[in-house]
Amino acid sequence: MERSILIIYTGGTIGMKQDPVDFTLKPFNFGQILSEVPEIRKFVCRVDTYSFSPLIDSSDAQPEFWIDLARLIKKEYANYDGFVVLHGTDTMSFTASALSFMLENLEKPVVFTGSQLPIGMLRTDGKENLISAVEIASAADEQGRPIVPEVTVFFDSHLYRGNRTIKYSAENFWAFRSENAPALADTGIHIKYNLDEIRYPKQYGNPLKISETLDTDVAILKIFPGMRENMVRALFATEGLRAVILETFGSGNAPTQKWFLDIISEADRRGLIIMNITQCIAGCVDMEAYATGIELKKMGVVSGYDSTLEAALAKLFYLMGKYADNDVVKRELNKNLRGEISI
Ligand code: ASP
Repeated sequence: MERSILIIYTGGTIGMKQDPVDFTLKPFNFGQILSEVPEIRKFVCRVDTYSFSPLIDSSDAQPEFWIDLARLIKKEYANYDGFVVLHGTDTMSFTASALSFMLENLEKPVVFTGSQLPIGMLRTDGKENLISAVEIASAADEQGRPIVPEVTVFFDSHLYRGNRTIKYSAENFWAFRSENAPALADTGIHIKYNLDEIRYPKQYGNPLKISETLDTDVAILKIFPGMRENMVRALFATEGLRAVILETFGSGNAPTQKWFLDIISEADRRGLIIMNITQCIAGCVDMEAYATGIELKKMGVVSGYDSTLEAALAKLFYLMGKYADNDVVKRELNKNLRGEISI
């Protein structure tokens, strides 16, 4: 049977064009994207398109937008074998991370892609990204099951698990990296799938559910030398705050100044969730490696393991939306839910 793919266009550089008046890049009509890539019509699968309105620069993508996107995928889930989401690169890793948690029981590919140069430009990377993303989203095994039934990001020859990606370069076509997890596929003359790394449902046939309640009462504190006590106190005193992500040094280390540790232990006593992720783009938090890390562990700080910031934030929003009890959230944070951490 002919396979079918829905391309969802949300905005971003891939479909932007230069405004003749102020010369900034602004989104243009989606119909023009397909006229720029007539090759799409050569696919031996049905390719339909859906365009968000309004189209957005992904810097404007908020959790409400993630919910709209998840709802659209759920609404069209039975009608298509896979989905390609054209999205701005700036926050693509945030949206892909969020969707990986929000789409429960996912059995079909949701491939995010975009480009660094608009699709109408001669040297655009958008064409290759879009064509390969459609091919990957429609790829199936002999039983007709999708080869990559996950939320992924395809960019410049590499397919990554979405919740492992970060936007790495504002300049190069190889704009995304997944330093703590291998590529799920690489494209060259052939598309080589890394089948051992792809996550498959334990059991097929469960209906797709979307988790629409996200709790965003999270703050992020990037630790730095010279950090001021009054600034940290103000952040922890934020009204309604439920969780703080600490972006720590190296393998999860932070200063051992008394005032800092006092703030952390007091926050823990108040029941706040404090999650430790590293500022390094590769590697894992190990709070037992150094005396400066073990202090945090003693104060009840939860390890974020080798999570990206994007995945840590999305996981917190998702879990806090699901569970009112912070102890339950802390317990769930220690689990690998969608391949977002290596445990
Ligand atoms: N500012 C754009 C966006 O994220 C950048 C891009 O698409 O590459 O929407």
